[in-house]
Amino acid sequence: MSKIFNIYGTDYHSMTKKLLDESNAIKLVNGSVALKPNLVVSGTPDNGATTHSEILSGCLEYFIDNGVKDLSVIEGSWVAADTMKAMKRAGYDKVCEKYNVPFYDLKRDKTRSVETPIGKIEICCKALDVGLLVNLPVLKGHCQTVMTCALKNLKGCLPDREKRRFHSLGLTKPIAALGAALKNQNRLIIVDNICGDLDFEEGGNPVQTDRIFLGTDPVMIDSYGCGLMGLEIDDVKYIKLAEKFGAGETKFSPENILYLNEPENAKKITRPSGTVAGLIKNVHEDSACSACYASLVRALYLNPELKSEKIYIGQGWRNKKIPDDGLGIGNCCKNASRFIKGCPPSAKEIINKNV
Ligand code: SF4
Repeated sequence: MSKIFNIYGTDYHSMTKKLLDESNAIKLVNGSVALKPNLVVSGTPDNGATTHSEILSGCLEYFIDNGVKDLSVIEGSWVAADTMKAMKRAGYDKVCEKYNVPFYDLKRDKTRSVETPIGKIEICCKALDVGLLVNLPVLKGHCQTVMTCALKNLKGCLPDREKRRFHSLGLTKPIAALGAALKNQNRLIIVDNICGDLDFEEGGNPVQTDRIFLGTDPVMIDSYGCGLMGLEIDDVKYIKLAEKFGAGETKFSPENILYLNEPENAKKITRPSGTVAGLIKNVHEDSACSACYASLVRALYLNPELKSEKIYIGQGWRNKKIPDDGLGIGNCCKNASRFIKGCPPSAKEIINKNV
C-alpha cells in the first residue's frame, strides 16, 4: 500500500522539495517529467482556485538537482479561460523562465483517442506520452462534484471539446474513466492544500490551511482528501468508481499516513472573509494553527448544528480554563470537559464529534 506524506508550513517551495526528498520520488522517473498544476481559471493562488507557483518551483528544482533533463509544465484551463493568461496570473511564466522549462498549453496540443471502461476518451498527447505525470491539484470544494483534487485535475489533460462532453455525461463516469486511462503516467501527486476554496472550484472563499501532501495513488489521495474536507468517500461519486475501473485504491491505513512536521510550525491563521467569516462568529480562537482552524471551518460549513456549540480552539487555550459547556478542538484544548483529539483533527473527526 502506498504512503501519504504531509508537511505543514508557509515556505511552500522548501516544503515541496522536502516531500519529494523524503518520499524518494526520483525513483518514479523513467524518462520525461511533466508537471500538471490546476490553472482552472485566471486567478492568483491565494484566492483558493489555482496551484501555488512555489510548488512548481520546488518540483522543478528537485528534479533538476536530481539530473532530470526532459522537464515541462502542461495544462489546459477550462473552456472559458485562456491558459496562457492564467499561467501568467499565477506567476508560472517567471518560474518557467528561471528554470528554463517550457510551458505547453494543452488546448493547442494534438490528441489521441484512448479506450476506457466507458468507451473512447480523447486525451492530449503530451499527457499520454510523458514518462511521469506529476499531478499538482488544489484540494477544494466543487459546486457539482462536492470536492476536487487529484482525479478531477486530470480533466485539464483534455481538449476543450472533450471537457464539454464530460459535462454532458455528468462528470462522474468520465472522471473515473480518465483516472484509469492515465494511471500509468500519473504516478506522483502533490496536493496544494494551502488555501483551497470552501465550496467553489473558481475560488473566492479560501480556507487557509498551509499543508501540502504527497502520494502516488490518485484514488487514495482523493479518499484521504475527503476526510480532511469533512466528507465521506461516498459523497464524491467518482472516487469508488475510479477504484472499480482500476485507477487506484480507496483504502489507506493510519500507519501509512506520515507527518514530516507538526502544524504549529505553520503561521497562524489569516483573517477570513466572506462565507468563512460568517461561519466562525461564535468561535473562541487563541493562537490556532491554520490547519486546525481550516478543519473547523470546513466542519462548520458541512454541519451547521455545530454553530450552536461554544467552540474553543488554539494553542492559547493550553493553560487557560475552558468553560464547562465549551467544546475544545484539538489536543491544545484537552482541558475542556469535551474535546476532539488530534493535532490537527480532520473536519470529519470534528463533525463526528469523536470526543
Ligand atoms: S491542536 Fe494545537 S498545535 Fe495542534 S494543530 Fe491544533 S492549534 Fe495547532
